[in-house]
Amino acid sequence: MRKLFKKLWEFLFPRKFKIICLEERPQTLTLDTIYIIGDWAICFICPCGCKAYIQLNTIPSTSPKWYYKIKLGKVSIFPSIRRTIGCRSHFWITKGNLYWC
Ligand SMILES: [Zn+2]
Repeated sequence: MRKLFKKLWEFLFPRKFKIICLEERPQTLTLDTIYIIGDWAICFICPCGCKAYIQLNTIPSTSPKWYYKIKLGKVSIFPSIRRTIGCRSHFWITKGNLYWC
């Protein structure tokens, strides 16, 4: 029940991400910030609290790769992000909001 309530709460009041575009990956990353690195990567800290560094490839001719769209300063990333190691978190980032799967 508590888990269901938490999911509903997170759906109604999702955590929000800021976005920063850079040419190179920064030395330190801030939680709840998505870093768009040049035209080749997206990186951020895992939002589950495990503090793992996540880097997503955006190079078109490679696989796996992710796409992103920035609209009105808010980022959407697709497909969803699923960690296959560590915390195994699975989530979407849509219009700057975090949604757990
Ligand atoms: Zn995590």
